[in-house]
Amino acid sequence: MKTGVFVNGRLMGFHENGERLASSLRKMRRDGELDEQTNVAYNKRTNEIFVNTDEGRPRRPLIVVKAGKSLLTQDMVEKIRKGELHWHDLVKKGVVEWLDAEEEENTYIALEEGNLAEEHTHLEFDPVSILGYASAQIPFPEYNMAPRVLMAAQHTKQSLGLYAANFNLRCDTRGHVLFYPQSPLVRTRVYEALGNERRASGQNYVVAVLSYHGFNMNDAVVLNKDAIERALGRSEFFRTYATEERRYPGGQRDHFGIPEEYVQNYLGPEAYTELDEDGVISPDTDVFPNAVMVGKTSPPRFLKEISALDVESEKRRESSLTTRSNENGIVDAVILTESPSGTKFIKVRVRKMNVPEIGDKFASRFGQKGVISLLVPQEDLPFTRDGVTPDLMINPHAIPGRMTAGHLLEMLGGKAASLDCSHKDGTAFSGNTEDEFEDVLRSHGFKPTGQEVLYDGKTGARIYAKIFIGVIYYQRLHHLVSLKLHARSRGPTQMLTHQPTEGRAREGGLRLGEMERDCFIGFGAASLLKERMIDSSDKTVELVCADCGSLGVYDKIKGRRYCPLCDSANIHEVEMSYAFKLLVDEMKSIGINPQLRLKDRGE
Ligand SMILES: [Zn+2]
Repeated sequence: MKTGVFVNGRLMGFHENGERLASSLRKMRRDGELDEQTNVAYNKRTNEIFVNTDEGRPRRPLIVVKAGKSLLTQDMVEKIRKGELHWHDLVKKGVVEWLDAEEEENTYIALEEGNLAEEHTHLEFDPVSILGYASAQIPFPEYNMAPRVLMAAQHTKQSLGLYAANFNLRCDTRGHVLFYPQSPLVRTRVYEALGNERRASGQNYVVAVLSYHGFNMNDAVVLNKDAIERALGRSEFFRTYATEERRYPGGQRDHFGIPEEYVQNYLGPEAYTELDEDGVISPDTDVFPNAVMVGKTSPPRFLKEISALDVESEKRRESSLTTRSNENGIVDAVILTESPSGTKFIKVRVRKMNVPEIGDKFASRFGQKGVISLLVPQEDLPFTRDGVTPDLMINPHAIPGRMTAGHLLEMLGGKAASLDCSHKDGTAFSGNTEDEFEDVLRSHGFKPTGQEVLYDGKTGARIYAKIFIGVIYYQRLHHLVSLKLHARSRGPTQMLTHQPTEGRAREGGLRLGEMERDCFIGFGAASLLKERMIDSSDKTVELVCADCGSLGVYDKIKGRRYCPLCDSANIHEVEMSYAFKLLVDEMKSIGINPQLRLKDRGE
């Protein structure tokens, strides 16, 4: 059977021998007869060849292997060192080639030169290149379970740091900036190559693996209160609010300025005291939840007939820009500008400092995450013979079950790095070894295991246990408890179902879900269940016809209750959930007539 040949996904024709075509195309590319951006993939199972030359394919370089020998010789390496040979020369000579994901399927890649065998087609430059950008930045990933490395890569994305050097000039909707970010003491070569030490997103903590009066149970962590007062893990949160003087059809438009008393939904004179005459707040003003930052009025939503006597401003409604209902801060910047459609446009950036507090989340680079359970004054913390107190304490049980040996290795490496004033290399497969760290510790008079004797901060008594203490990079994650805390008594409800709104941003109710409902049923707490599901939710009183069971109506003019179906006046008030009434209405709309059979309460 002939082989189908596809170029950039389109069938171009057929060939007698697919395998031969693929290898001759590859030979042409290596000889420079075809562009080096061409990739050829042969699928034996479907007997198809895919030639790809289009843009947008991620590709990666590999060393070509022929007959079990790497084409990159020691001679070439020397020339590269001297600067006589360059990268593109290697690509031109066919020593190095760029493969896309499809062509990679046809390869057999050796990780190290020593492992090369006859059947290998390519050789990695460095074994670390089997990892992606995110996981290659984690030190010692080869010592951990794969799911922990993936989690760690996830935590790195959630960590607070210096996300952009020009954050002060930007108007990001949301942004966190860490105070005093530090580059890690133990880092990888990939981390350095990406320049991340200039965009650090964490700090080096002194960590003791030790339980503290049961406060760091499970994944909770105990932090040094004095370290936090010295700005450890402290960050600033920015939020940008924006508003526009919009134009509407019919020549009407919004107006910036302090609203007049007679506009609809006027918030009262106190609400506008912080505004200047132009209706805009000044930088460095303290703002509280729901504070007006830009005064604005809008034309009415629905146009009415304009009579000669109407005062136009009477119908205008208040539409000021306010802070969120659960956020406060300080006005950081006010920017007056013009929108693309040429209208006045105002952006207000609000900042708020976040000091780590109980409930805030921290993580190391090994999928070891936890929330603060207690802040302890430094004088009450255990200390070493040198008087060093830990910044953070994790529970020893966090290590064995998760098998994150890299966590311990980084603590050891961090300790060695702080002792000999150097950075340590944690690159996968080729970084510094445990033995090297142990030598440094030994030469500085520490136990090579990293264990030390600690003394109780409150009693001064020696703790009779070997305690592992070291330095490790910890990240503060953006799940701040102050941005999650939420409670509600009364509040807004949805228009359609009359039930409380959902979500913190909308001042929503706390959901009593199906499983919680089942618990109440199982416990027999009928009155509590009724209160939660009806009284505190979408209670409504509807009229029901006792004769035919359909919903009745009230004629306000005649003051009469009747049934629109059978015209009976035998109507009763029934308490029910509005969602149920909605269900009945929706069933009627698809041609089903639900009937409610009424009974007396005692029956
Ligand atoms: Zn009826």
